Amino acid sequence: MQNQITRQHFDDWMVPVFAPAEFILTRGQGSRVWDQNEKEYIDFAGGIAVNALGHAHPVAVNALTEQAQKLWHVSNVYTNEPALRLARNLVTHTFADKVFFCNSGAEANEAALKLARKIGLLSQQPNKNQIIAFNNAFHGRTLFTVTAGGQSKYSQDFAPLPGGITHVNYNDLDAVKAIISEQTCAVIVEPIQGEGGVVPAHLEFLQGLRTLCDEFGAVLIFDEVQTGVGRTGELYAYMHTGVTPDILTTAKALGGGFPIAAMLTTDHFAKQYAVGDHGTTYGGNPLACAVANAVFEYVNTPEVFTAVQRSHEQFVAGLNILNESHAIFKEIRGQGLLIGCVLNDDYAGKAGQLMNLASDHGLLVLVAGPQVIRFAPALTITAQDIDDGLQRFDQAIQQFLQ
Ligand SMILES: *Cc1c(COP(=O)(O)O)cnc(C)c1O
Repeated sequence: MQNQITRQHFDDWMVPVFAPAEFILTRGQGSRVWDQNEKEYIDFAGGIAVNALGHAHPVAVNALTEQAQKLWHVSNVYTNEPALRLARNLVTHTFADKVFFCNSGAEANEAALKLARKIGLLSQQPNKNQIIAFNNAFHGRTLFTVTAGGQSKYSQDFAPLPGGITHVNYNDLDAVKAIISEQTCAVIVEPIQGEGGVVPAHLEFLQGLRTLCDEFGAVLIFDEVQTGVGRTGELYAYMHTGVTPDILTTAKALGGGFPIAAMLTTDHFAKQYAVGDHGTTYGGNPLACAVANAVFEYVNTPEVFTAVQRSHEQFVAGLNILNESHAIFKEIRGQGLLIGCVLNDDYAGKAGQLMNLASDHGLLVLVAGPQVIRFAPALTITAQDIDDGLQRFDQAIQQFLQ
């Protein structure tokens, strides 16, 4: 049939920067999705920590369809009500006083890093333009953000790269102490390294970064693109720590599946950007902001945060039971519904293989590097879906170990 779309068409027509699964998903409901053959999957991947409310949640669907009948796009020549409502929610419920909207995590980090450079320039301190970032970090794929990310394999082919960025080991405060100076304008850090293997920051590390940034007049940027919007059981991960950043970036779950991102900061830093310094056509798009606002208001409740914590405990208990029979993981780590299962060294490099077996058994999971299976399901996932999913995971592991 001429209209039939198949996986082969991906190879025919798409730039080969991705290697998607062999099946094509066509619809979803809650934490279950179905492919072209009506095969059902339980979704522990959540669109990589994006689908905060799962699939086709009525709260998000209603917000989108209501807004779709009113106003889609007006550009930033005009402001709009959904953008201002979402901004009000973000400043009311975080440390921030001001918000900049954009479309992706990379763009939010780009806005943050450019702002840090501008702050450094306006500080009158000569050459205050150096950025400290961390090995194995991930901040996006624009040239600036991919260079800030700590995996040179993602940036080296695109040299010459933006300068002035130095990487040290994550959770190594002494390494930061050794290089931070009056020339440092920013430190950018993920509270939990997501792509880097679901590695949580130590509390003393984040506290130490805060102290060092204050001492040297550098801005502390928390990249909460993956950890934000309830994922860790608080609205943002920094809220568990008592450490407040100067700039925070948020994306992924912010729109629950509709593309939107934001950079949050204080009045003091926001005003160092002037009209025309930065921008983007789609930033604050009414459709995106209407959906994000509905997602935000749904998520930002004690009930949801408690549910995330309860689900975390169910996952960890279930995974520990699996591990008692299979001895496949050396560590289960993460916070809330961002969970990493670190494979024993015998299986290092085989996370992708286990991910594929899981989908064969009707379970979508993610990897975070070659040795870590990552779960980032909907915050609304039910106890039943977690149980059923872990059962399918058990079957996949049994086949993996054969
Ligand atoms: C996914 C991610 C990004 C990049 O977001 P995009 O929307 O893909 O540009 C940046 N930082 C972190 C921590 C992420 O997990």
